[in-house]
Amino acid sequence: MNLLRSKNLRRGTLLAVLLTLTGAGIRLAVRRSAEMMPDAVPVSAQHSEAPVIVLDAGHGGIDGGCSTADGVPEKGINLSILLGLRDLLRMSGYEVQVTRDTDRSIHDKGIEGIANQKSSDMDNRLAILNAPEHAVCISVHQNQFTDPQYSGAQMFFSDTNAQSESLAQIMQSQFQAMLQPTNSREIKRCGKELFLCYYCKHPMVMAECGFLSNPEEAALLVTEEYQQKVAFTIYAALQQWLAANPSVQ
Ligand SMILES: [Zn+2]
Repeated sequence: MNLLRSKNLRRGTLLAVLLTLTGAGIRLAVRRSAEMMPDAVPVSAQHSEAPVIVLDAGHGGIDGGCSTADGVPEKGINLSILLGLRDLLRMSGYEVQVTRDTDRSIHDKGIEGIANQKSSDMDNRLAILNAPEHAVCISVHQNQFTDPQYSGAQMFFSDTNAQSESLAQIMQSQFQAMLQPTNSREIKRCGKELFLCYYCKHPMVMAECGFLSNPEEAALLVTEEYQQKVAFTIYAALQQWLAANPSVQ
């Protein structure tokens, strides 16, 4: 019921109802709610300056990323969240591009060796993020730490685009409001170590959606239902940010 108290949600009651539904139900309900809320959904086709939304699912192929205690890798969770988010955005009229929509690395053909493939993969992801003239970029990841007690989403951003911090803040607040009421994490500024965040020229956030090293959070993150709730949380945050930032730098 924390949803009902959120000032961030203009239609908190409706969203609270939506979040009680299953993933498929959420998609249907979002489409219906979009019809009821013509002011809330910018349609990119009607607005030449509307940004492309570029989504990146972290890892893929031989690179599984981090994993749960019983071996479920991050890469598939990231992809499921990305595909749900992509569908929600496309239903709302946005142009959406993704770095991958299957379980694979996107390195150039003919590259030998895992390190070289990873380097090529990251270069190609960055090229996809930076290709549009106007874009907003989200990279989806899961976190891991040696101490299993830590949990909760955390957003990372770089100062290399001045609009990224506010995007990260809205997204962090939306996770707290809609999914994780006890999450007191703060957004974190990154450097070159987060390659995509740092070198992306558009507003960009890397969303660490939760900790696979925390047993309770991992048990949620491996379910399709929770993955769709995460997708909807990011979708709601993007909508809110875009309403406040009609032109992106
Ligand atoms: Zn990752």
